[in-house]
Amino acid sequence: MIVRFAPSPTGPLHIGGVRTALYNYLLAKKNGGTFILRIEDTDQKRFVSGAEEYIINTLKWLGLEPDEGPDRQGDFGPYRQSERKELYHSEIQKLLDTGRAYLAFDTATELEQMRASQKELGVHTPKYDHTIRHTMRNSLSMTDREVKTALDQNTPYVIRLKIEPNQTVIVRDVIRGEVHFDSSELDDKILIKSDGMPTYHLANIIDDHHMQISHVIRGEEWLSSTAHHVLLYQAFGWEDTMPVFAHLPLILKPTGKGKLSKRDGSKLGIPVFPLSWKGEAEQDSFEGFREYGFLPRAVINFLALLGWNPGVEQEIFSLEQLIELFDIEQIGKSGARFDFEKAKWFNQHYIAELMDSELAKLLKPILLEAGIRLKDDKIFDLADMMKDRLETLQQIIPKTTFLFEPPMDYDQKQLRKKWKENSSEILSALIDQLKTLPFEDPETLQTQVKKWIEDRQISFGQIMPLMRLAICGKMQGPDLFVILHFIGKSQSIERLENALETFPKLLQT
Ligand code: GLU
Repeated sequence: MIVRFAPSPTGPLHIGGVRTALYNYLLAKKNGGTFILRIEDTDQKRFVSGAEEYIINTLKWLGLEPDEGPDRQGDFGPYRQSERKELYHSEIQKLLDTGRAYLAFDTATELEQMRASQKELGVHTPKYDHTIRHTMRNSLSMTDREVKTALDQNTPYVIRLKIEPNQTVIVRDVIRGEVHFDSSELDDKILIKSDGMPTYHLANIIDDHHMQISHVIRGEEWLSSTAHHVLLYQAFGWEDTMPVFAHLPLILKPTGKGKLSKRDGSKLGIPVFPLSWKGEAEQDSFEGFREYGFLPRAVINFLALLGWNPGVEQEIFSLEQLIELFDIEQIGKSGARFDFEKAKWFNQHYIAELMDSELAKLLKPILLEAGIRLKDDKIFDLADMMKDRLETLQQIIPKTTFLFEPPMDYDQKQLRKKWKENSSEILSALIDQLKTLPFEDPETLQTQVKKWIEDRQISFGQIMPLMRLAICGKMQGPDLFVILHFIGKSQSIERLENALETFPKLLQT
């Protein structure tokens, strides 16, 4: 089994592309096969510098490293199509020799005229095909002498595939079954452009053949091109080694309506690319899953289930488990909704599963960037405290402001509920007591405060909620003693004293 992920370096890799890479990777690993990364860079006009690096970095970040690719030589290199031009030229010659392809010298104006006159005749979408090719300037309609003269005069030309009408082209797709196309409806696709570069169709087929690709897994948008691809395999006489096709369902917008587009990310404020990308214009810059604070394993788990149904209730799968269970037969035909809430759910699960030390390492740069400098053991404490409360790593900043800044306001509804006549007195006594206690570790602090509460014969409900409001401003949050320990003795006492003064005033208003 040999599979390939064959992106074109035309910009950052869309999340749909990442899913394609993942499914290829899973299939290869499950079967002890080879996963090849091939860069399809024959369209010079759409080439974007940095895109190849982006693709390689994405696969590296996710741990989906190819067995062979531009930065990992193997049996089938080179892995950039721009470095394989000689192969395409020697192969296309075979199609010219057997009459399966032909040269076409038509100028842009001539093509335009053809389209216009076809439209006048009522043809809805005019194509360069069997109905009109004899009327155009190509090696089928011209004499050998005319062709030779045109070539001698360096007249620009393209090479087209000669498609015979009235054949049924059958694409066998693992996901969709047999898909039939009528060859009469297909245009004579350009195989070699006037700049001498092959088109996607030609280079893709030649490479799949020469790289001995056994399974082509790619997005649904390529299904219609596959009719041409099957005809190309036939034209080359390679039908016997034609790969198995699997066209993946679309990824739909979070609403479930329509295809997820790269603009949806900026519109909805969610990532739809794996890594951030800095485009020339503001609207071409995107924030990635990584920078948003996602763990690679969460992204993998989320993407794996976007179209593939493992057939079990379980939703959490490690990469190893995915490899074991993956089956292309269980990929669905209908579009899969990009549910960002679900992505966060996976991420929260994987963050909570991290060891404190691992999480601390990931949080450190995020804290630093927000200007929060902490000693390593403090970051460790922070990781331990917040581990179950983060949907993304980045949330560490907004979710922990209460640790670094005293409360700006207090939940007054709760305050009114919890404040009793003797509250001031209890709070003030607690402050005095806390001044005598060490804050070395949360457990001891908790035991001592609890003992004090019991000794004074008051209830927990009389003091703990007020203490939390005084420290955090609100009722929710991690364990209070963990917070007290984290912010330290003087900060804790300062906040409590402040509350002691503020609470009665607030209650009067
Ligand atoms: N270069 C194509 C792309 O950008 C590859 C499609 C295929 O896998 O054949 O998606």
